[in-house]
Amino acid sequence: MIITKQKNIEQILQILGTGPVFLVGCSECATLCHTGGKYEILAMKKTLEQRNIPVSGYVILDPACHLQNDKRMLKDYGKELDKTMKILVFSCGNGAQTVAEIFSEKEIITGNDTLFLGEISHANEFNKRCMLCGECLLDLFGGLCPVSQCPKSMLNGPCGGSSDGKCEVGSQLECVWDRIYQGLKKQGNLKALSIIQKPKDWSKAGELKRRI
Ligand code: SF4
Ligand code: SF4
Repeated sequence: MIITKQKNIEQILQILGTGPVFLVGCSECATLCHTGGKYEILAMKKTLEQRNIPVSGYVILDPACHLQNDKRMLKDYGKELDKTMKILVFSCGNGAQTVAEIFSEKEIITGNDTLFLGEISHANEFNKRCMLCGECLLDLFGGLCPVSQCPKSMLNGPCGGSSDGKCEVGSQLECVWDRIYQGLKKQGNLKALSIIQKPKDWSKAGELKRRI
């Protein structure tokens, strides 16, 4: 799932300037992150109207990153969209760009910041799990990803700063290298750590289009 965080209202207002504006949400990740579901879109509509910024309409795309679906759904909002040159999108950056592809003549404003690809660990709690590196190394590390879960993306062991299994960058974080070590030990596979990893080849993440 793509994890997003809503920008603060002052930031949104500064970029938005004056209205009218059309609001777009997303039925999937942004709904689960509470950054762009129906509840948040209606709350944003109310907030903007209280500040005398007219909202010409809103839609929750299903999901925002599906180009053909977006085109089909947005056809029903022609009148509302004609009233404004500004569309404020509360999805991930992917969804916002999909909307931008449809409305090249309108200003697309992103209401969310896109953070990472992550898991839902509990309701309203998300953990970073993947940075889409294009060459997955999980099998080398007992199913844990040091690229995304270590703030320094250490590939050949811990940085030396962890204490009691916690990361030196933030004590709320577990040191993933501590977990990798414990996991491989349990699996009787500590020898896997003797293989020196070359620096990550980020060119593998450069694929821009895939057709199946
Ligand atoms: S190794 Fe790369 S693809 Fe695999 S989980 Fe980590 S960042 Fe994602
Ligand atoms: S303490 Fe562990 S998780 Fe934190 S930066 Fe160092 S190696 Fe990475």
